[in-house]
Amino acid sequence: MIFKYAGIETELEDHDCPHCKKPLEPWLGPPDSGWGVLLVCCNNQCPHYKDSDKDIVNKRSDCTLGCRYAENPENGYKSFNLVAMCF
Ligand SMILES: [Zn+2]
Repeated sequence: MIFKYAGIETELEDHDCPHCKKPLEPWLGPPDSGWGVLLVCCNNQCPHYKDSDKDIVNKRSDCTLGCRYAENPENGYKSFNLVAMCF
């Protein structure tokens, strides 16, 4: 897929989430995170994301906070847990 941000076009490999088999979506990390574009599973029904719910202490009830499956294209598509909220 081609992802475009700030006038820059980035070509990303098409990857599927190993947990729910949905295609990962490009997501631009917050400017202060040091991340560029990440591939993130944005599926709220993803078993990986749903299970992560319980592991987070001090979770705000008004906010969706959980660990989403993500891969970092800048790091050889290495997978990691992206703690994300309010998607
Ligand atoms: Zn998933």
